[in-house]
Amino acid sequence: MIWYPYQQMKTMKEPYKIIDAEGVWLKTKEREMIDSISSWWSVIHGYKHPVLTEAIKSQADRFSHVMLGGLTHEPVQKLADKLKDFLPGDLDYCFFSDSGSVAVEVALKMALQYYVNRGEMERTKVLSLTHAYHGDTFKTMEVGDDEDYHFILEAYGEKKNVIHIPTQIPALEQAFEKYHQELNCFIVEPLLQGAGGMRMYDISFLVKARELCDRYGVLLIFDEVATGFGRTGNRFVADLVQPDILVLGKALTGGYIGHAVTVANHKVYHGFYSDDPDKALMHGPTFMGNALACSVALKSIELFEDEDYMTKIRRIESITKREMEGFTDDRIQEVRIMGGCVCVEVKDASTLKGYQQFAYERGVFSRPFLNCMYAMVPYIISEEELVRVLDTMKAWFR
Ligand SMILES: *Cc1c(COP(=O)(O)O)cnc(C)c1O
Repeated sequence: MIWYPYQQMKTMKEPYKIIDAEGVWLKTKEREMIDSISSWWSVIHGYKHPVLTEAIKSQADRFSHVMLGGLTHEPVQKLADKLKDFLPGDLDYCFFSDSGSVAVEVALKMALQYYVNRGEMERTKVLSLTHAYHGDTFKTMEVGDDEDYHFILEAYGEKKNVIHIPTQIPALEQAFEKYHQELNCFIVEPLLQGAGGMRMYDISFLVKARELCDRYGVLLIFDEVATGFGRTGNRFVADLVQPDILVLGKALTGGYIGHAVTVANHKVYHGFYSDDPDKALMHGPTFMGNALACSVALKSIELFEDEDYMTKIRRIESITKREMEGFTDDRIQEVRIMGGCVCVEVKDASTLKGYQQFAYERGVFSRPFLNCMYAMVPYIISEEELVRVLDTMKAWFR
């Protein structure tokens, strides 16, 4: 039987069984519902997009997968070339993997080994944010700050190699002053902390972080697994402040197949480039550079550019602002909007109990977590569909 994610299997409510999906719509036997969270923020072009489906079909007719150990192929080369052009600055070196968590692991390993390769053995610590989420594997749990994983602390004791700070400049300055000799990297979800509660913060924090990383020779990692491809209203936050390592996942393949990439800049890449085999990056997921995933990712990026998705995202943001303007309730802590993300944070998580079923009955799929009711819709959503999602959120409080 299936063991479902983040669920107490004994008390779990029956999941909705999807039999078909098209555009923003998920279909069960009984009804259709708008996927207001894009299958964990990944399905930016909607379901059953003809161009993406065709990309996979035609690649499958040739071959679906060959490993990158000793072999290479056109889809992975084309995608790497495309990303080199599409991403800002000298973020040119693509290491592919099968999921966001693994891609973050690769980024953290890169940062550590970068200094080991230089003989700076004391740089063992990672700076990260409170309420950070970077994935579910062990090291990503450790650099994250998710309450669900605090059992790790109980089991292993305090984290010796991770320092967490809030998104405030004085805390950032203090941490650098105190730990700069031991830090190899500062990892952040830039501007929008997703799974930690849809927390939004100002770009000035990242500008300062870049400055301090430069001053103290610490690598800056942006985990844009969630924020990449327009979710914050920027193509990438990396367009505003450039990190040394950028991690992309989720929307990379338009949500069609799990794939992710860790992109290094010139400086990081050249920390490994050497005649010494011991200085190579020792990593290689079986399915890295999967040909189906690369083919669909390439088409996804082409769609994003050719159909001017940034305009679509700005439209989503302005409709959302218009519809949510002046909306308040005693039970609401704050309504936050950024690009293609809206979050209604409630004071007490119990306020959201039963909301999923309420939304389902109104033709909207939603999945509140912590004290967040939120939407991250597919970018191809129509105005009418988006208004329906937002009306459903507001109706819960009436
Ligand atoms: C979802 C997410 C991850 C993990 O990606 P998976 O593909 O689920 O392993 C990592 N970082 C951030 C910011 C995410 O939102």
